[in-house]
Amino acid sequence: MVASQPTGSATWFPCNDTPAHRSRYRIQVRAEKEYRVVTNGVRTGQSSQGGDRVWRFQQDVPTASYLATVQVGRYVEDEIELGSVPGSVCYPARLSRRVKADVHRRLPRMMDAFVAAFGPYPLPRYTVVVTEDELEIPIEAQGMATFGANHTLGDQSSDRLIAHELAHQWFGNSVGVQEWRHIWLNEGFACYAEWIWSEACGGLSAAELAARYHARLATLPQDVLLSDPGPADMFDDRVYKRGALTLHALRIELGDEAFFDLLRSWTQRYRHAVVTTADLETHVAERTGRDITPLFDVWLRALPLPALPVG
Ligand SMILES: [Zn+2]
Repeated sequence: MVASQPTGSATWFPCNDTPAHRSRYRIQVRAEKEYRVVTNGVRTGQSSQGGDRVWRFQQDVPTASYLATVQVGRYVEDEIELGSVPGSVCYPARLSRRVKADVHRRLPRMMDAFVAAFGPYPLPRYTVVVTEDELEIPIEAQGMATFGANHTLGDQSSDRLIAHELAHQWFGNSVGVQEWRHIWLNEGFACYAEWIWSEACGGLSAAELAARYHARLATLPQDVLLSDPGPADMFDDRVYKRGALTLHALRIELGDEAFFDLLRSWTQRYRHAVVTTADLETHVAERTGRDITPLFDVWLRALPLPALPVG
């Protein structure tokens, strides 16, 4: 398996490895017959060569190098329908019961909830791979997500992770970052999507989750600047949670209708384009006619944790 975020892709193919550089891909992999090959894009063909199988894929959506991936395993593959989006799930047969309970059963409803909240799904399909191995964390790729065997336990405890990776198709993969310093635009939004899903499926509300994580962040060092966390802290959980809290503060400020209109117009305006934090601020100002600079100043450009606004 390959997972290359943020800068691993140059170890397996020649590329200009920055998130702003996006390419189309044609991927061809030769593997022994008992293995299934899964990569980004749409499968365009298969042939035999010396007793092996050659798999071909085409990704026509502009894709950042860190989102390119290849997964090879002894997988079964199930096609699933995610509303109007074709999907598939690849996994080792021994995990069948758990994967079906967590992914097959939950993902269609998740897709519905996210299309309603974020706008049309931006890629031609969505493939979930569950690996034979345990993985430290799941990871998104273009039109795909990879989970470890340990991430699907068949008890919905992985809902949060499944929602997070799906949300990256809108936030990160379609609307991408110009530079890694804007990582909160990926991770803060994907984390907030976990809360939106919790709310949508009858779990804790976003407000309850915001209060819980705000209280937790208040006990941790406040030394990570959300607008530019630096390479060492770009995947620090505080970036994820404070990013999500920033969005929740914005939701309280604007109200639900304007907030979700903002999310959908953001994903539409910058579909398959790269953005900066300044682009978001401009978009908020233009779309709502409101000056939200003070809110962004305290959440993004200052270190102390601001008080959580109450709705
Ligand atoms: Zn993420």
